[in-house]
Amino acid sequence: MNGESEVRYVRQGEVVGKKVVEQRGYIVGEVKDLSFKLSEDRVELALTIKYGDTERDIPWSQVKSIGDVVLLKVEYEPPVKAKPEVAKPEVTAPPLVAKPQPAPLTPKICPNCGYPNDPKNRFCIKCGTKLPE
Ligand SMILES: [Zn+2]
Repeated sequence: MNGESEVRYVRQGEVVGKKVVEQRGYIVGEVKDLSFKLSEDRVELALTIKYGDTERDIPWSQVKSIGDVVLLKVEYEPPVKAKPEVAKPEVTAPPLVAKPQPAPLTPKICPNCGYPNDPKNRFCIKCGTKLPE
């Protein structure tokens, strides 16, 4: 005998989406599905819980009660905060090399046509208007 005093049928929709809280009060995930494990002579039920991208199965025997949350009677390691992207390469800070950069040259705007000419130009390369010095 398993010592359960009452038989209660739980509908899948009752538990799916509920937060799963382990013994100490940590939220370890959210119920994603009910899973079955078929052994030789019986069916074992498990909760598939999801936390971020991590999924794991919790045997039904570890479920203490189901209320507003699913309470477990065991301690689980609180999952590591879900990493949004695992494959993201490390962003290295740009090297702090003070490379003197020439001051950006402001183009000479042609007073006639508005074309941004090279500052060295004396005449607009587009319309030929004499550019201001
Ligand atoms: Zn011009």
